[in-house]
Amino acid sequence: MAVLLRNPKTITRTTTCSIKPLSSCISRSFSSTTLNSETDLKVPSFFSCISPPLRQEPKDRNVQWVFLGCPGVGKGTYASRLSNLLGIPHIATGDLVREELNSSGTLSSQLKEIVNQGKLVSDEIIISLLSKRLEAGEAKGESGFILDGFPRTIRQAEILEGVTDIDLVVNLKLREEALLAKCLGRRICSQCGGNYNIASIDIKGENGKPGIYMAPLPAPPQCVPNLIQRADDTKEVVKERLRIYNEMSRPVEEFYRNRGKLLEFDLPGGIPESWPKLLEALNLDHEDKCTAAA
Ligand code: AMP
Repeated sequence: MAVLLRNPKTITRTTTCSIKPLSSCISRSFSSTTLNSETDLKVPSFFSCISPPLRQEPKDRNVQWVFLGCPGVGKGTYASRLSNLLGIPHIATGDLVREELNSSGTLSSQLKEIVNQGKLVSDEIIISLLSKRLEAGEAKGESGFILDGFPRTIRQAEILEGVTDIDLVVNLKLREEALLAKCLGRRICSQCGGNYNIASIDIKGENGKPGIYMAPLPAPPQCVPNLIQRADDTKEVVKERLRIYNEMSRPVEEFYRNRGKLLEFDLPGGIPESWPKLLEALNLDHEDKCTAAA
């Protein structure tokens, strides 16, 4: 499967030079802006890193992209497809939160309450979870990332900007009626983690807004007995998550727009219509564009 990144800014290349791990810099950058610890979260040992972060030229490293967008828009779906295509880790902070929430750690019940109300987890917890994930990836030789669900506040965006250069921020957009239906129709395989959707979305165009059709994404037979719904995918909680997105995360779009990094992408429909168009918008040539859309 050949992939060609046409934009020279986004050329993928592995690096051999030694750099200060990004995980340590994120954690340290956060420490300098945090006065109080709100939780008993264990601070990773690399917290004490004192030298300034080293930025690598985009040509010397893999891409560092961010996916923004409302709950249910499909950040996870498209970020994970691109991750497979480009061989770059897809890091979803929502997944990190759910892993911690399902563990027997001391934060578990606190996180469950926050997430199930549709609220945001504190910046401190998120930075700590993300730093640990980046540290684990770096230890395995990972380079570059596609972040999904981070940053979600201006403060998170500033911390990220303080430690590394983000090459591109993709802002996925979909009409709000479709977002709610997609969250309510989402089903996850508890065994393999596969993401499916039972919603059939057919919204007529009105007032200049185009209509949109999105076919269900059925689970394969082996996953059907294991399908579960996320506890925060209820009508009430999704509405709260959308409200919080508008209040806390919408300004992050502006943050990156002002820096000339935001790529707006209106999803034209389901995966078969959207995936090839997204590749085009990203200047990615993919010889299997058609099959990849299936
Ligand atoms: P998601 O899977 O992205 O919808 O995230 C699920 C939940 O995890 C969110 O509703 C938040 O409670 C929490 N979460 C994920 N990412 C962040 C973040 N960057 N900042 C704060 N909370 C987050």
